[in-house]
Amino acid sequence: MITFVGAGPGAADLITLRGQRLLQEADVVVYAGSLVNPDLLSLCRESCRVYNSAEMTLEEVMAVMEKGEDKGLRVVRLHTGDPCLYGAIKEQMDRLDEKGIAYEVCPGVSSFCGAAAALGAEYTLPGVSQSVVITRMAGRTPVPERESIRSFAAHRATMVIFLSAGMLPELSEELINGGYSPETPAAVVYKATWPEEKVLRCTVETLAETAREEGVRKTALIVVGEVLEGEYDRSKLYDPFFTTEFRQGKEMKQEPAGVRTEEGGTDE
Ligand code: SAH
Repeated sequence: MITFVGAGPGAADLITLRGQRLLQEADVVVYAGSLVNPDLLSLCRESCRVYNSAEMTLEEVMAVMEKGEDKGLRVVRLHTGDPCLYGAIKEQMDRLDEKGIAYEVCPGVSSFCGAAAALGAEYTLPGVSQSVVITRMAGRTPVPERESIRSFAAHRATMVIFLSAGMLPELSEELINGGYSPETPAAVVYKATWPEEKVLRCTVETLAETAREEGVRKTALIVVGEVLEGEYDRSKLYDPFFTTEFRQGKEMKQEPAGVRTEEGGTDE
């Protein structure tokens, strides 16, 4: 069996319990050496064969997986954060499908969650933004024109931008041209949850100089939006006058009490 495992954003104890068990039981581990915390490899047994995919091609990674599978070994493919974001797992899964090799995915804590924790931020605040755009600037991997930063910026929702710390002057320009004011709060979060984490608060306009002053060029997320600062409405879910499936709200004098909304049904 092959398992794709999300290693979490950095701190070794942010892997899931399932991911930890899979690493402890693995016979073969192929890990994304550029970003996965090497401390996680100390969970592996002495006999486990460990490969660093940063030095390998897709074909080489597949060959290791297939050989492991042929021998009936437990193979873990360890990706940073959660593998569903910029993880290049689909191309691996498709090749495994072609060979009829079974696999599973064990999710992980994505770095965009690690960055929110580092910032003490909630990305979705009532009255400010109820959406998070996860995107990137085009690099060697192109981004479809209809998904340009500029077009997303028009919504002025919360934005988390991956893989773009080396393009901050262009990113600021796109964000401002798209619709964010230059003063919109922003942050550069470098190596969220690692010991060397840096949280740099700035504005959309000062992203590039802020990162430059602190020497941040990679392994960072850019977070943009009014959720990082300022006013918001309190939640309906915990409003004393609000009735939910689990709690009777107090009677209100003027407005009818007990209006059910979708938030009422699920405790978040
Ligand atoms: N699957 C990963 C993302 C891989 S793409 C995830 O879910 O997080 C690699 C990019 O993710 C980096 O260039 C950087 O933009 C971001 N990244 C990964 N780990 C990070 C961390 N600990 N702190 C800040 N950004 C991180």
